[in-house]
Amino acid sequence: MSETAVQRLEEIRARIRAAEEEARRPAGSVELVAVSKTFEADDIRPVLGAGQRVFGENRVQEAGAKWPALREEFTGVELHLIGPLQSNKAAEAVALFDVIETVDRDKIAGALKKEMERQNRRPHLYVQVDIGEEAQKAGIAPREAAEFVRRCRESHGLAIEGLMCIPPVAEHPGPYFALLQKIAGEAGVPKLSMGMSGDFERAIPFGATSVRVGSAIFGHRAAKDPA
Ligand SMILES: *Cc1c(COP(=O)(O)O)cnc(C)c1O
Repeated sequence: MSETAVQRLEEIRARIRAAEEEARRPAGSVELVAVSKTFEADDIRPVLGAGQRVFGENRVQEAGAKWPALREEFTGVELHLIGPLQSNKAAEAVALFDVIETVDRDKIAGALKKEMERQNRRPHLYVQVDIGEEAQKAGIAPREAAEFVRRCRESHGLAIEGLMCIPPVAEHPGPYFALLQKIAGEAGVPKLSMGMSGDFERAIPFGATSVRVGSAIFGHRAAKDPA
């Protein structure tokens, strides 16, 4: 018999609690971002009904089509952008998201700053690091990351609160999580968004403050995502 998304959500929460305990971290120190990309409002509603409030989407346009209506039904939703951002979507992203995890170049930083002032909205910002230096993945190179965070703060006037990464598939993620943790220390950022359905438990000992879990809650996605 197949489980429901709500049952899987409860299992993921329990596994996060167990991993926190195993890593001797305080209960509740790791936030669950439920990644609802490609799923319809009807699939998301039961998960909201079960009390989950933090969600991740990878496309501005898709999130804009689904979430304004869901936010009218459920209060306290916190929406994270976890996919690449184009500067021509900065206005929409600032209007829609509470956390933008994918700041990765000066052009985006500048566009976000301008929109944040214009709209008088202050989404929390994370820098995405291309932790495995993969050409096809978005993000700033690891060795440039701390300097980019400094530029965001000093040249663009943006408060950067976290780092985000997606390790290479089919490799042990531990060394990549360790590297992101080290860069966060150098850059002086407190939040670490790392770990997905297949490896979130392994990100928790390396200091993940949020994990982004999609298919382990919502099930298999029909469409393959762009990297
Ligand atoms: C899709 C996606 C996830 C969730 O992936 P799952 O393997 O389904 O948990 C997490 N982070 C990012 C950036 C994604 O695009």
